Amino acid sequence: AQAQLFQTLKLEALGQLTGGVAHDFNNLLSVITSGIALLRTAEDPARREKLAEAMAQAARRGADLTRRLLTFARRQTLHPGPLELRGWLTEMRELLARTLRGDITIEIEMQPDLWPVLVDAGELELALLNLAVNARDAMPRGGRLRLRAQNASLSRAGSPDLVDGDYVRLCIADNGIGMTPDVLSRAFEPFFTTKEAGHGTGLGLAQVYGFVRQSGGAARVQSEPGRGTTVSLLLPRAPAEAVQAASRETPPQLPDT
Ligand code: ADP
Repeated sequence: AQAQLFQTLKLEALGQLTGGVAHDFNNLLSVITSGIALLRTAEDPARREKLAEAMAQAARRGADLTRRLLTFARRQTLHPGPLELRGWLTEMRELLARTLRGDITIEIEMQPDLWPVLVDAGELELALLNLAVNARDAMPRGGRLRLRAQNASLSRAGSPDLVDGDYVRLCIADNGIGMTPDVLSRAFEPFFTTKEAGHGTGLGLAQVYGFVRQSGGAARVQSEPGRGTTVSLLLPRAPAEAVQAASRETPPQLPDT
């Protein structure tokens, strides 16, 4: 039987972040604390130097960790506005083609009367690039990246952590190596990566997840080892008032009296 892995993301990226980072931080602090204890009794200068270096290194890693955390946290301020995905995706195709290698084909499928969505366009672009980079890394021998956008009205059958209403579902699918159940279950954790040092930060999917949740949408991932991965984003439909307000260049002025 073919087991399909399916996961709805319920973890809140920041909650997960706290646990993992607190653990790493504690490890670094215990290197420093035990280093101090040993330093107090050590007499050999070479040994003292070694201890001091180990402690300095732990402190540097701690500083690096907080720097990355702050960069991650700073991203959380969003400026949502109405966005027409049709034109936006057409523009993104070029950017994607430059991000991907030539042996990866890009397919874009859009429903004709797609609703405008209410998102931070810059953050959505970052999310799509993060997903494209992951897809590229998952297809070392080439493959196909398929983007699909369609309107979706959620009623009570929808996901429990979503408000009923109108959304646009944007699916990003690759036919690459896929994820094992272990990797899938941790994929959204900030700083979780299976890539070699220097090749992954482990923040790609955490950004995607944090961004869509904060926008009032949802993200989920389906993946099957050897077959590929599909990330589905539900983006909230922009209310008509928001679209009208955005299309007005300047707000209406009352005549001076
Ligand atoms: P990074 O790409 O920096 O490792 P991400 O948060 O984007 O960080 O991804 C975390 C991990 O999830 C990756 O290291 C990889 O193991 C797995 N992953 C993400 N996207 C895909 C994909 N499209 N196909 C296979 N594995 C993936």
